[in-house]
Parts: sequence; structure tokens; C-alpha cells
Amino acid sequence: MTNYTSKELIDLENKYGAHNYHPLPVVLEKGKGVYVWDVEGKKYYDFLSAYSAVNQGHCHPKITEALKNQAEKLTLTSRAFFNSELGKFEEYATKLFGFDKVLPMNSGAEAVETALKICRKWGYQKKNIAEGAGVIVVAKNNFHGRTTTIVSFSNDNNAREDFGPYTPGFIAIDYNDTEALKQVLESNKNVIGFLVEPIQGEAGVYVPDEGYLKTCSEICKKHNVLFIADEIQTGIARTGKMLACDYENVKPDILTLGKAISGGFYPVSAVFANNEIMDVIKPGQHGSTFGGNPLACVVAKTALKVILEENLAENAMTLGNLFRDEMEKIIKDNSDLVLKVRGKGLLNAVVINDTEDSSTAWDLCVALKDNGLLAKPTHGNIIRFAPPLVITKEQLMDCVSIIRKTIENFKK
Ligand SMILES: *Cc1c(COP(=O)(O)O)cnc(C)c1O
Repeated sequence: MTNYTSKELIDLENKYGAHNYHPLPVVLEKGKGVYVWDVEGKKYYDFLSAYSAVNQGHCHPKITEALKNQAEKLTLTSRAFFNSELGKFEEYATKLFGFDKVLPMNSGAEAVETALKICRKWGYQKKNIAEGAGVIVVAKNNFHGRTTTIVSFSNDNNAREDFGPYTPGFIAIDYNDTEALKQVLESNKNVIGFLVEPIQGEAGVYVPDEGYLKTCSEICKKHNVLFIADEIQTGIARTGKMLACDYENVKPDILTLGKAISGGFYPVSAVFANNEIMDVIKPGQHGSTFGGNPLACVVAKTALKVILEENLAENAMTLGNLFRDEMEKIIKDNSDLVLKVRGKGLLNAVVINDTEDSSTAWDLCVALKDNGLLAKPTHGNIIRFAPPLVITKEQLMDCVSIIRKTIENFKK
């Protein structure tokens, strides 16, 4: 068989692949900028951007070119040897984000794991916490990845159930609650870090009150606790600034990036910190076979350059404001079906007027797909809207009319 239909390809995945995802019934085979095409040739707007990993748009020509050139030269050396691209990427990325050092990994979860390990070592070596007693504070409804340690401090039952025993050493407090952070830091001298998402993406794009990050970072500073910002989803221009922390001029002690630092091409993640923190990690104490490989370095450096060259943060800011204004109008006319829109830049979510266990958000996403726009529900009745940041005003307005038409014709 040479040409598979969507149905045949879905059947293959269902038969031979683990069922750890429940995808929308569409099979994609091509992408360009804000568009993707299914195997039957139908064209869609991508309004998920692989969970914000393709901020630069699908198959960006500059990143494609960089990847091809490097792929023909050298792809992997391991860190047993130096390579010609790692130092160049490290210099570029640390200068761009304003840190002394970076530690490259591959997936987002690995970056978070790395941040936790650095924080713990720092706690024992620099803060003189008794070995094994260090505590890292996290926020409820967090999403930081899928490793056994990370799911240990998740309160999403789906992510956590039956994966124990769980890694100890974490305390969860309410998100957007600076008082709770203050209390736990004042009452527990073993706290060494506070890990937080500047906007909770997976939870449903929860934007905290203005000043939340600033206050948290000040509380952490006062108690000599590391403020760890997980910007794997919010970073790289998604929310209208290079980092979501930039809105409050907050400089995290440890910063994790992933997703769009790859341009959507190849898994790359990175952990940033200054010397007094990063230098607690000595040779042999942490690593990754693929982390920092020359192909990844070239891809990541080019992916970051594209963000700057094409002013994608600015575009996300302007078009994000426009998108929310337009959605407000749609919501006003259709409040029986949609309750509200929230977000920052081009990371937005629409809350559906139905119970969390209803299929309304899913059904609406299927209807959007039929009308040429791909989005996915998160946590039941919330739909995330996050197009590639290369989207133009005309394209965005076209999408707004698809969303309006779909909502107006939708029957619960
Ligand atoms: C996606 C995500 C991760 C995990 O990244 P993976 O590459 O899927 O391991 C971690 N933190 C946040 C905030 C994310 O959005």
C-alpha cells in the first residue's frame, strides 16, 4: 500500500501504539507556517502549535536550512568530547536570557528534573540543609512533565494515579496565593526552592494576578529560597514577551525552557542559572547522551534568532489583544455556550459553559476541525487557542470568523 487514508493510519496507531493519548481524529502529513494539511489534502489552521513548541511556524525555512546543513556535517558526539556548536549556542542563549550559564537537555521534563536536582544540591551545599531534608514548594494544578518525580507533586489524578511510590520532598500550595508561599517559607526552614509556571498552561491557561511573580520572587529572596520559573510553555515569545517573567521584570534563579526553543524540529530543552547556583553541578553528577549535541545546538540557536528577527513577541502581544477582543464579542453573543476567554499574548483559553465531564469542548473542537481549525480541549471544558506566532492579522481574523461560525452553528 502506498497511499494510506486517515482511517487506515488511525487504525494502525490504535492497533500498534500505546493508548497514552486521545488525539482529535485528524492525520497530518504536511505543515507550513500557521497551516497543516491532512493526508487527504485538507488544509487547517493549527491553533495548538504542538503545545507551543512551533511558535516559529511549521517547517520554518531558516531552521530547516540550519538543520539540513548541520545534519550533513555532524549530529552527535556525546559530551565525552567538545563539539563545534555547543559553546556558540551556550554563549548566544545565556546572553539572550541574561544568565551566566546554561545546561542543555532534550525534553521539558528533563529540564525540570535538572532544575530540581540543581536546587537540591544547592540547598545541601550552599544553604546547609541536612542531607535529604530539602523541600521544594510547588503550586497546585501544576504541569511540569511526566517523570516519576514530577508526577509525584502533581494533583492531576490522571497523571499520578498508580505511578507511586512517590518522590518525597515537595509541598503544594495554591497557585496565585502569595500569602501561602510566605507562610510555608516562614514556617519551614528546610525549603530550598519554589517551582512555578508564570501562567499555568496545561491547567487551562490560568493567568495569576499582576504582581504575583514579583512578590513570589521577593519572598523567595528574603528566605534564601531559589525561585524556579518553568517557562517551557510560556517562554520564547508565546505570551507577548520573550519570557512571561519579563512582564514583571522578574529574574528567576533557575529558568527552564523547552518546547519552542526547538522551533518544533528536534527536542531541545535548557536550564539557566548564574554561576553560584549552576556551579554546584560537577563533572559526572548529571548529564544526557543527547543533551547539547551539535544538531540540537544549531537548531535551537536558529530557532531563537527567528523569534527576534521576525519580532514574534511583538506580534504575539498585538494579535493576542486583538484575539481576546474578538472573542469577547463572540462570547457576548453566545453566552449559552462560551463563558469567557483568558490569556496573555497568543496563549489563550476559552471556557465552555458546561460541566467539566461533558463532551461539549471536545465536540466543539471536532466541529472546528471540520471547519478548518485545529484546537484541543484541556481539562474537560476548556479549549486552548495558541496559533504559531507567525500568524498575520488577516489570518487571525479569518480564524476568528471560523470560530464564530462554528460556535453559532453548534448544537449542544
Ligand atoms: C510541556 C511542559 C513540560 C514538559 O515538557 P515535555 O517536553 O513534554 O517533557 C514541562 N513544563 C511545562 C510548563 C510544560 O508546558
